[in-house]
Amino acid sequence: MDHFDCRDGVLHAEDVSLETVAAEVGTPAYVYSTATLTRHYRVLAEAVAAWPDALRRPLIAFAVKANGNLAVLATLARLGAGADTVSEGEIRRALAAGIPADRIIFSGVGKTDAELAFAVTAGVRQINVESRPELDRLAAVAAGLDRTVEVAMRVNPRVGAGGHAKITTGGAADKFGVAPEEALALYAEAAAASHLQPVGLACHIGSQITDLEPLRAAFGVLREMTQTLRGQGLAVTRLDLGGGLGVPYVGGAATASPADYAAMAAAVMDGLEVDIVLEPGRLLAANAGVLLTRVVHVNVRPDGRRFLVLDAGMNDLMRPALYDAFHDLKPVRAMPGEATPHDVVGPVCETGDTFARDRPLPPVQAGDLMVFTGAGAYGASMANEYNSRRLVPEVLVDGDRHALVRARPDWDEMLARDRVPEWLRQGDSPLSAPR
Ligand SMILES: *Cc1c(COP(=O)(O)O)cnc(C)c1O
Repeated sequence: MDHFDCRDGVLHAEDVSLETVAAEVGTPAYVYSTATLTRHYRVLAEAVAAWPDALRRPLIAFAVKANGNLAVLATLARLGAGADTVSEGEIRRALAAGIPADRIIFSGVGKTDAELAFAVTAGVRQINVESRPELDRLAAVAAGLDRTVEVAMRVNPRVGAGGHAKITTGGAADKFGVAPEEALALYAEAAAASHLQPVGLACHIGSQITDLEPLRAAFGVLREMTQTLRGQGLAVTRLDLGGGLGVPYVGGAATASPADYAAMAAAVMDGLEVDIVLEPGRLLAANAGVLLTRVVHVNVRPDGRRFLVLDAGMNDLMRPALYDAFHDLKPVRAMPGEATPHDVVGPVCETGDTFARDRPLPPVQAGDLMVFTGAGAYGASMANEYNSRRLVPEVLVDGDRHALVRARPDWDEMLARDRVPEWLRQGDSPLSAPR
C-alpha cells in the first residue's frame, strides 16, 4: 500500500499536490512519501516481532543502494533500521544519516583494502566476506589496524532467483559469495585468524523475488551449514538472510507478503538460537517513491505510431533500459478519454531510452504532468548525467510538509566539476576566462 492518491482529480503524495511540487522544483523529480516508507518498515518489523525468542534481535538493515538519499536513510534510522552497504560511500551515507555503526553491514564482491580499513575503523557491525582472497585481505587489514572484526561468510547457495537475469545473484555462475563447502572451510580458517571473528553466514540470492520457494531453499542451506559448523565446535550466532523480496509494480500483482516471508523464515530457522539480519531494499522503498515528469510532446508518425516524449530519460530512471522493468505511468491530473497505445520514450539519444512500448494511455498532451510509480528504489540511486542532463532532484513529503532533499545542480555546478588543463586555456577561448 502507498500514500499516493488522487484528490479532487489531482495526484497527491500524502497531503501535497504533485502539481505543487512540479511548480516548485521543476521536472523531472523524484517524490518520496514518509508515510509509505514508515508503513513498509513497520509491516516488516511487526512481522519479525512475532518471531519466537530463539530468533533474537532481528535487525532490519535497509539496502542503501536502493535509495541512498540522506533524508530517506534518516527516516528509516528513526524507525530503528540499520543499513546494508556495499561501498565506503554508502557507509558514509548511513553514518551521516544517523545510523549507528553497529547497525551497519558491509557487503560486496570487490571491497578494496582502503574500504575494508574504513569499515573496520568505523566499527561496523559485520563484514560479509564474499571470497577467499577477500578473507585473506581482510585478515591482513584487521591485523594491521590491530582490530578484531566480526565477519559473516556470504554463501552462494546455488539458488538463483529474481525478476531478471541481471538481478539474480545466487546462481552458481554468479559472482557473489562462496559455495557452501568452501564457506565451511573459510569459516574455520577465519576462526583461526588472529583478528577475525566469524559470527555467522549470509546469503542474498537476487532481487524482485515474488515467490518464497527459492528463498526457503537458500535459508535451508544456511540452516544446514549452521548445524555443520556448530558440530565442528564453531560458534554461529548470526544469520543474515539478505534482501530480495519483491514488490507489486502493477496494482494487484501477486507477490509474497512480508508476513508470509517472515513466517517462512521463522519456520526454516526454528529453534536455531541466532540473531537474524534482514537486508530489504526494494521492499521498503520502491512503492514509496514516484518519478514526476512532464510530457515534452506527443509525436504521431504518419503510420500512426504515437511516441510520448517525456522530460525524464533513462539517465533518471534506468530500470526499464537496464532490466526491461515495468513502471506504471499515469497522468497527475485524472484524465477522461479513451486509452490508446503509446511508445513512451525519454529525450536521451539511445533507443534504449524507451520506458514502454504500446502502453495504453489517455490522451495526454504536451505540458501534462505524469508519474512513473514504484520508482523509490533503484531510481535516483542509479541516476546519472548521461547526455549532460542534470542529476534529477529529490523531494520528501511528510503529511502536509515537503522538502527538497536533493537539489538539481545548477549548470555552473555541473560544469565546474570538469577541469581544463592550462595548455588548453590559452588565447581568447572562453576557457581562459575565470569561471
Ligand atoms: C541489493 C542487495 C540487497 C537488497 O536487495 P532488494 O532486492 O532491494 O531487497 C540486500 N543485500 C545485498 C547483499 C544486496 O546486494
